[in-house]
Order: sequence, then C-alpha cells, then structure tokens
Amino acid sequence: MKITQIDIFKLNVPFQYPIKVALGEIAGAENIAIKITTESGLVGWGEASPCCYITGDTQATNYQTAQQLAQLIKGKDALAIEARMTEINGFTVGEPSIRSAFDMALYDIAAKAADMPLYQFLGGEKRAIRTDLTIGIQDTVAQTVARAQSILDAGFDAIKLKVGRPGLEDVVHVAAVRELAGPGIAIKMDSNQGWDYPTAVANIQAMQSLNLQYSEQPLAVWDVDNLARLRDKVELPICADESVFDHHDALKLIRAGAADYLNIKLGKAGGIHTGLKINAIAEAAGCKCMIGCFGESRLGLGAAAHLALARPNIVFLDLDSAYDFKTDPVRGGMTYDPKLGGVIHVTDEPGHGASFDEAALTDGIVV
Ligand SMILES: [Mg+2]
Repeated sequence: MKITQIDIFKLNVPFQYPIKVALGEIAGAENIAIKITTESGLVGWGEASPCCYITGDTQATNYQTAQQLAQLIKGKDALAIEARMTEINGFTVGEPSIRSAFDMALYDIAAKAADMPLYQFLGGEKRAIRTDLTIGIQDTVAQTVARAQSILDAGFDAIKLKVGRPGLEDVVHVAAVRELAGPGIAIKMDSNQGWDYPTAVANIQAMQSLNLQYSEQPLAVWDVDNLARLRDKVELPICADESVFDHHDALKLIRAGAADYLNIKLGKAGGIHTGLKINAIAEAAGCKCMIGCFGESRLGLGAAAHLALARPNIVFLDLDSAYDFKTDPVRGGMTYDPKLGGVIHVTDEPGHGASFDEAALTDGIVV
C-alpha cells in the first residue's frame, strides 16, 4: 500500500497546570502532527511531543526532520512497518519524538487496513486501564495538598508526585499527600534524575512508612551503577524512565540489575515498534512496565493506551497530559471517563481511532 502524501503540522496547546519537574518545566504542548495518506485512501495520524531536556529534540527540529523522513518513505509500502521503521530509525539516532509520530501513523494505517482497532491488531484485548495524575514540584506543601485534593475529588485512585528537590525537602510533600489520601490511593514518585545516590537513599528511607509504589528515575541517566546499588540498598521498587529509550537500554539495565520496572514512552522509543521490543525484554526478565507520556494530546496518548491493552505486562499507566489541555484538538480516540478519574476508554474504530481537527493545526507542509 504505497504512501502517496505526508502532511506535517505544528500543534500548540497550553496546559491548565504548567508542570515543573527536576529537569525543567512544561507549560503546554508544542507538538508535531503527521498525516500519512496512502494510494488506497487510508490515512494514518501520528503525534510527536518533544521534550528537549529528555528526548534531545524540539518542535523546530522535529518539523525539519519530519520533512526529511517524509521524503525517505514517500512512495514506499506503508504496511511494511519493519522496513519503514528500520529506515526511519536508521536515518538518525536522535529525534525520537518525530520518529514515534511516523511509527504511530504507520500502525494506524496497518490496523485500519486490517479493519481492527490497534490493540486488537497488536494481539490484545480490552481490559480495565487507568492512569494516575501528576503533580509537579513548583508548589508549596499547601499547594501540593490542594492539588492532590482536587485529583482525589475527580475520582483518581493514583497520584504521581514529582520530586527531586534538594536534600530531604520532598519528604514533607509526599507525607502530606499520603496523610490526605489515606492508605487506599496509590502514590508513586518521580525524581527525574534530581537526586544523587546518598540523597536518594536518605529520601527513600525517610519515606519508608508512606507505602509508596515505586521510585522513578531517582538518579541521573548515566548513573546505572549507582541505580543498581540503590536497588540493592532500599526495599522500594525502582523504575527506570530517562535511562531507557530503546530495547538496547532495556537489556543493559536489566543485565545491570538496575530496575524493577521500565517506563516505556513512545516519544523516547521512537514509537510502538521499539516499545514492543522494550516490553519483550522486560517480560523475559520478569520485569513489569509502565507506559508514560510527555505532552501528547488524546491522539498520541491513545496510541500508547492501545499498546498497553495489547501487552498486559504493561501494568502502570501515566497517560495524563491531555487531561490538562486547555483545548482539545482531537476528534474521536481515547477518552477519560467523566466519573471514574483516570479510567481510559479506547474506541473500537479501526486504527487508534483518532484524528486531528486540522483547523487546530498550523504551519502545514505537504510532502
Ligand atoms: Mg518519569
């Protein structure tokens, strides 16, 4: 099924709550939308949400690279995903966000050609899936508690607290949210590399009674030796996020004994094609996965939700970015349950089920 046209757009949507993490701050989505059209008339949509301090790419670089990737695959078979993603991943070792947008659009086309929702195309079936909601580190303790209260009021059963403040400053935030939430709410924390080894040990030990779910990326990306040492030292499970972009990283982390869980993000992995490989390596090692996000709309998050449905080894979901979008540029696709906070529904439309309202997109280029 020959690719006849690729449309490239920018998508900018502010968040209701800008989110600050140990590495930087995100005030809104500065994304790229990709529409791949085939000779059969089938169209696939993909989305990139670059986060330069993690993925090394930006909307501007993705916009440029997208034009080169479009030239690379135009005229070729959209259904030969292995071949197309080998070309796309071989074009650059960088730009994972835009590679994931092309991957997402190709999987959308393939599932539509099979007349199946994407989760089914990937061999999965529906099960209950539910995301947490994230609180950044920009707030005072009182503000953190107020934000947690609003999340609980919305019916969520899991809160992700960004941490990584200096010294033991995080402890009072996490303790206050646990006291508010009571024992039945899952609380996980994500340091985004903000601690060094001694600070991580001190914080995790100081939070020992708070019944946390896991500590995500406590140490710097490069500090795999200390991550393994930390995992030996503390009882709390360790989840690797920024340390695992692709399947090669996954294998290294598992061999090093450095992680209990791996966080798959399509925007790090360059899409579903490599995300499946990360999960396979994790599963072979008895390691569960979470699936996370950057600043994707419901379209990009929906593709991730379909992957989670397709692989039950993916047990934790952090697909909350679109929850705080000020406007919704997406038609169809995954939705958040209006009553059961965090419960995600995907449609049984073929593909990932979503498209963009092109009126919400800007700077369109046709290749
Ligand atoms: Mg993370």
